[in-house]
Amino acid sequence: MANVNNQKILLQQLKRNYNLCKYCLKRHIPSVRVTHISDQENCFICHGMMGNIDIINSKILSAVNNAYEFDSFLIGATIPTEYYEREDQIRAKFKIRGKENIKIQLIRELRKKFLKITKTRLDFLMPDISINISIDKNNNVEVIARTRPLHFFGRYLKKHRGIRQKQTKCISCQGKGCLVCDYSGLSGYDSIEGIIAKRLISITEGQSPKFTWVGGEDEESIVLGKGRPFFASISNPRNRKVENNFKFTENGIIVTLRRKSDNVIGSSLAFITKIKILVECDRALTKSDIENLKVYGGSIVKFETKSRQFSKKIYSLRIQKIDSNRFAITVITDGGFQVKQFIGEREYAKPNISNIFDSNCRCISFDILDVDIQKHFF
Ligand SMILES: [Zn+2]
Ligand SMILES: [Zn+2]
Repeated sequence: MANVNNQKILLQQLKRNYNLCKYCLKRHIPSVRVTHISDQENCFICHGMMGNIDIINSKILSAVNNAYEFDSFLIGATIPTEYYEREDQIRAKFKIRGKENIKIQLIRELRKKFLKITKTRLDFLMPDISINISIDKNNNVEVIARTRPLHFFGRYLKKHRGIRQKQTKCISCQGKGCLVCDYSGLSGYDSIEGIIAKRLISITEGQSPKFTWVGGEDEESIVLGKGRPFFASISNPRNRKVENNFKFTENGIIVTLRRKSDNVIGSSLAFITKIKILVECDRALTKSDIENLKVYGGSIVKFETKSRQFSKKIYSLRIQKIDSNRFAITVITDGGFQVKQFIGEREYAKPNISNIFDSNCRCISFDILDVDIQKHFF
């Protein structure tokens, strides 16, 4: 009771000294009913911002409702520092402590109203949509909304040669997404990355898809078996009620995708690849050359590039002679096996086929027959 009486006294003091709106009074005297506040606009603390709460809320609604699909949200706000300063001035004068500040009250009220109208859920940790409002000194409101990225795991089959795996970034934004690239972050859609990115953008109406590939191949390689696995994330999707599993074919690329609940890929994703390599050497190959090469099934190949050294195991190796100086070799190896280095082109690999044959050998083409992920990552 004493508390209520104290608050009633405080109410009279506040009213006598300052012109405050209903919200700014209520914040300091939560136990007392505040009525008959006619002049909301000239509130000493908020200059009418709190009285505009329904207008602010309708601005939020018009910015996000029908524009984004979401089941949960979070609303945050930035308000001018002068508002806190004026509030602190009053609190210091009347020794008011432990009350919520103007911003906390604003976002609490906004969240309450937004929740009631949209019938969605307030989520502090992983909201589907994060809404930030920015209010300036003249109480102009800017609404910025961003949705949580969507994540996918997929595989693709490539049955025709001549499409490269990766797309170069948009030169204007370096992949961030801009008007030039229509917020894809890409230079176009004529690669596997581009084809999948375009589809994901059209399904989700999102931006800047990012890919993590489980290995890579050449423009002239084909990819068979179960297909090459990859992970994709798309930022700021407008549609998030996307099917859990879907499949599409474009330009000879067959893509299957499924939704993933998170972005966890695993720091070192282990995989095994079956590769068929077509090799040409400068000299004619003998039967004993072929026999010599067979020995390397089960061996470890050490690779050395400018930046690092690593080794990959060959689990099995099969050779098919095509003509006097050409043959096909099918290997099952650890993922990340450097085909061209193993043939003896480019940088260093030990052993490599050019050294084994003591002849200059080249990789004419290589095809991915299958890719298996070893670690369970979901
Ligand atoms: Zn006020
Ligand atoms: Zn761009």
